[in-house]
Amino acid sequence: MNTEKKILVIGAGITGLATAHWLNKDGYNVTIVEAKSKVGGSMVTEKEDGYLIDFGPNSGLETSPLIKILVEDLNLKQQFIYGNKEGNKRYILKNDELQALPMNPKDFLSTKLFSTKAKLRLALEPFVGKSEDGYYQSISEFVTRRLGREFLDYAINPFVAGVYAGNPDKLSVKSAFPKLYRLEELYGGLIKGTIKGARERKKSGEKSKQDAAMFSFVDGMVTLPNAIHSEFGGKVLLNSSVTSVDKRNDKFEITYNKNGTEAKLEADLVISTAPSYKASKIFSNFDSELTNHLSKIYYPPVMVLYLGYDKKDIGQPLDGFGFLIPSKEKKNFLGALWSSVIFDNRAPEGKAAFTLFIGGTRSPELFSDDNNKLIDDVVKEFESLMHITGKHEFIKSNFWNKAIPQYNIGYVEHENYFKQFEEKNPGIILGGNYVGGISVGDCIKSSEILFEKAKKLLL
Ligand SMILES: Cc1cc2nc3c(=O)[nH]c(=O)nc-3n(C[C@H](O)[C@H](O)[C@H](O)COP(=O)(O)OP(=O)(O)OC[C@H]3O[C@@H](n4cnc5c(N)ncnc54)[C@H](O)[C@@H]3O)c2cc1C
Repeated sequence: MNTEKKILVIGAGITGLATAHWLNKDGYNVTIVEAKSKVGGSMVTEKEDGYLIDFGPNSGLETSPLIKILVEDLNLKQQFIYGNKEGNKRYILKNDELQALPMNPKDFLSTKLFSTKAKLRLALEPFVGKSEDGYYQSISEFVTRRLGREFLDYAINPFVAGVYAGNPDKLSVKSAFPKLYRLEELYGGLIKGTIKGARERKKSGEKSKQDAAMFSFVDGMVTLPNAIHSEFGGKVLLNSSVTSVDKRNDKFEITYNKNGTEAKLEADLVISTAPSYKASKIFSNFDSELTNHLSKIYYPPVMVLYLGYDKKDIGQPLDGFGFLIPSKEKKNFLGALWSSVIFDNRAPEGKAAFTLFIGGTRSPELFSDDNNKLIDDVVKEFESLMHITGKHEFIKSNFWNKAIPQYNIGYVEHENYFKQFEEKNPGIILGGNYVGGISVGDCIKSSEILFEKAKKLLL
């Protein structure tokens, strides 16, 4: 057993908890310090009036075998669920109508989503050369160059809003969509790369995001962090906000605030998974350049609006995952998940539940002290697009002031500096969704990397 050395994990979101789980499984002595009164971080599930509401991630993608291992370790097999088949169909809004996103070549040829010119442009993709300045390229530049403007506007722009609540003009293709970037780097193009990359993934057991199954839990996403919490019991210190970390000889001294009282802990190794804007303060005694990098990462505000209706009042056939809205369509929201279509038990019998996203990098200015008018406008737009005749019978919202880190152009400099910092300060490991990807699947994959780094340092 590796119990002599003390490891402290800051933050009980999925990254911190999964990292702690792998360490605990290997016999290490781990304590988790969490600022809030509950674990889960961005994973927040509530149950009310027969509705099950996920205000953070609604699902994850099973991109790695690690997810199943975690589920089995935690005895969650009975709780683990896959999305319904209907959820594979996705819509994009164009001219106030929902158009199904084509999923095969035949549908692509007949779709109204793209003009004939745009379809012909796509066929040229294998012949487009590599960019010379790939590192500092936005997603918009990358996609327009390889696939054409219309593909950017009606496929990538809404997709980026769906994943990052982000703006493709600002996000770095290299950091935000590293796999896409690598397809060009390694194989010279997206179509060629997709075919060849599939063969390599088959060997490694990894799955691409478009092939991976969507998962959740019978009682919602918070099931996963709650199960890891139960495994740790009293070794998760809740309501305990870390204010600073200092080096004292060969140990780290962690100062935290518990219900207004200052307390201290000692550790041999500190793994931070707090958001970058918090980590910038926690490690400010170490290095002003680190503080600079961490505090520059932008997290836009996002409002999640959850709506419930009687199914008989909904004119739009409910046969998909939901729809995303390109910025060209000029609506007050980014898109809507048809939550009760994707997973069972999300709404009472005869009712349908929807999760809408508002704001993000596209329109942070929409928010004010009183968002009631904004909510009314969004509800009206949504009801009109979905041909809904009756009034919603359930409504609840959650405002994320700083929702998702944006891997914007130049992010590679932050990433490089984080590596340098860790080399200069052995014993401190920086993690969380601002390193290695934002999705739940990415965070779980990152947790294994954090675990491996910790093991190496404790050898
Ligand atoms: C609205 C929304 C919808 C999303 N939808 C999806 C989706 O459908 N699918 C998907 O894959 N991903 C989705 N994501 C992204 C994904 O949920 C997150 O990236 C992921 O859960 C982040 O986990 P984390 O542990 O890295 O960070 P967090 O969940 O942010 O956890 C960090 C933890 O650190 C704690 N902390 C902060 N400061 C301190 C301190 N000083 N001391 C101690 N603790 C501290 C926080 O309280 C928090 O609990 C969504 C995110 C949001 C916000």
